[in-house]
Amino acid sequence: MRKIRTTLVNPLNRDRLEILGDHVISCQAGVISEKRPYDPALDSDCEDRRDCVLLPGLIDVHTHLSQYRIRGLFEPALFPWLDKHVYPAEARSSDPAYARGIAEEFFAALFAAGTTTSVIFTAPFEVSCQKAFEAASQMGARAYIGMSLMDQNCPGQLRQDTDNAIALSKDLFQRFDTASPLLRYILTPRFAVSCSSRLLSWVGSFAADNAAWIQTHLSENEEEVSFVRGAFKTGTYTQVYQERGLLTPRSIFAHAIHLGEAEMGILASHRCKLAYCPDSNFFLKSGEFPYRDISLHGIDIGIGSDVAAGTTPNMLYHAKMANFRQSAHPLLPARLIWHLTLGNAALLGLEDRIGSLERGKEADFILLNLPKPLDGENDLASELCFCGHEYQLRETVIAGRTVFLSSGLSSPRHHGLT
Ligand SMILES: [Zn+2]
Repeated sequence: MRKIRTTLVNPLNRDRLEILGDHVISCQAGVISEKRPYDPALDSDCEDRRDCVLLPGLIDVHTHLSQYRIRGLFEPALFPWLDKHVYPAEARSSDPAYARGIAEEFFAALFAAGTTTSVIFTAPFEVSCQKAFEAASQMGARAYIGMSLMDQNCPGQLRQDTDNAIALSKDLFQRFDTASPLLRYILTPRFAVSCSSRLLSWVGSFAADNAAWIQTHLSENEEEVSFVRGAFKTGTYTQVYQERGLLTPRSIFAHAIHLGEAEMGILASHRCKLAYCPDSNFFLKSGEFPYRDISLHGIDIGIGSDVAAGTTPNMLYHAKMANFRQSAHPLLPARLIWHLTLGNAALLGLEDRIGSLERGKEADFILLNLPKPLDGENDLASELCFCGHEYQLRETVIAGRTVFLSSGLSSPRHHGLT
């Protein structure tokens, strides 16, 4: 049993959060067992963390493990960036020792940024995906992980034989989708450019038969969109996926920037999920995510880092970018915090297990050191979104297990509190 006395930031719905000063949160056997105001008669045994604020663990719905070491390497558009930086970097993950090393580095970086759940592409090699699962399992990460699929229009070192890619995906799904309560397998065609019609159709039918999750990219870049429309001889990029059964309530499409009204209607009718990756979109000059129009269609939106086109795994930074990269539509702090926690949890069908600080939910949370004493609580959500870099992470906990503890913060800092 663990009891912590601190300030809680808890999302209630997409536009409301509660900030609970001087509360006690308890967890036992990996589950939140109590949340209530501090009571001196009952709580003499709790950890005093009034120098911190406690939030649900942060969730990243779109990131690339095998690209972690090429963050910040710039090219002015998607295709040259893939050719020059991404494909050579991913080719290195065919080596088991390299694949294991980058997986450990990646999960350590997620934990040090307060990310407790992530949805991950690995390189197009079985060993890359397998080492990611092994590292995630041993280190205690909660994640959806998939091997990237690509059987055309890519360098020979990365190109998979179609039948082999299908066989490996089936095998990885069977080995890992239900092996751990924290981990799932996700079918991962990289994007329509690099996947044959047969491979995409297999993903659609396997997902339907097995209630499997799917992740891919959609309409990120105008050159990509016209390439796909030409290659598949269809009117829209969305139709390519629709005709092959990839539009499901368990499908996450990253970017979705260059969409027509009809495509938004189709994605909404299939209850597809979209990952908004603002830092990546501006890094690669891909365009601006049409957040308002997509919301008006009732499509579920999550926020992703898209490392390595996103420059950092730090989701508080991506909350700020999600606001900054909307030129006219203001995303308010309560919405941004909701996206990173309960909203992204709901996107993954995990809202009953994680995403907010409620009794009975699994104990995924982070403690951030307050950079200054709390001066009222009303502005805390705004400060977390726009000055998140000033809140040094103290601890990251997944299902009750501490996966990160800052070595520089072992003694409490009181900031004038007694
Ligand atoms: Zn991506």
